[in-house]
Amino acid sequence: MSTYKRLLFIINPNAGMRRKESPLNEIIMLFSDYNYETIVCFTKKQGDATDLVEDHANRGIDLIVCMGGDGTLNETIAGAIKIKWNRPIGYIPAGSTNDFANSLGLSSDPVEVAKTIMEGKPRCIDIGEFNGRQFVYTAASGIFTKVSYETSQKIKNVLGHFAYLLEGVKDFTQLHSIHMKIRTDSGMSYEDEFIMVAFCNTFQMGGVLALDEGNVELDDGLFELLMISMPRDIVQFNTIIKSLYEQSYDEDSGLVRIVKVKSANIDFPAAEDWSLDGERGDGKMHNSFNVIHDAIQLIY
Ligand SMILES: [Mg+2]
Repeated sequence: MSTYKRLLFIINPNAGMRRKESPLNEIIMLFSDYNYETIVCFTKKQGDATDLVEDHANRGIDLIVCMGGDGTLNETIAGAIKIKWNRPIGYIPAGSTNDFANSLGLSSDPVEVAKTIMEGKPRCIDIGEFNGRQFVYTAASGIFTKVSYETSQKIKNVLGHFAYLLEGVKDFTQLHSIHMKIRTDSGMSYEDEFIMVAFCNTFQMGGVLALDEGNVELDDGLFELLMISMPRDIVQFNTIIKSLYEQSYDEDSGLVRIVKVKSANIDFPAAEDWSLDGERGDGKMHNSFNVIHDAIQLIY
């Protein structure tokens, strides 16, 4: 008699899963081939993946696999951290927002990814926490937030969208800037008018921001803090667009800066919206960010 391990399979059915040729059967059969008894749960609304992890994972589950977009992964991980779950998590990307999946180099074939999860080794990754809410790869605030929520669409990818918006700006004085005071754990402080600020732990965002893979590590206890200042004239405006496309960023000076941080505080004159992994998150006047080092084990 073989001993089964137990797998909690959380699926967001809205993430392109209602197609005729759904890969679910094949994936569940694959799990079975690897001796997993699979408990299948579908999310019905936002936040469900977190609740499902809380409800089921501590009942003898050996592995959690979530299937959906980056938002589903975000919710699954939030649940895992909440209950201090210390076993592996697998992620099968199947949504419209798969920035992080792309960054990890996951295949676009769900069955292929499922196989990687069955055969791969878990690796620790850091998770970010913004005002107490977890996120996997990006927390951002800037001009794009208001526009994208107005169209009630989720941000497809933060910087792709951002660059698109920037290019659409005929006159740079239309840009919405936010006065921010940023203090980091290393004692650096930045005070300026910014058009975008983001905490990232990823190699790329939307094909626009690409960070040197030799320079970014998902488990170094550090996130990259990206700060883009408000351009004062058309020359600066063009410099920003150019440095985003050419991926030339300055550490301490310049209009597009990137520094590594463990934690940071950001003060605004008024509350500003944030996007956490592409989902809306409420910002406050006083905001705090910190890294949870090696928070989860991801198989990829
Ligand atoms: Mg890192």
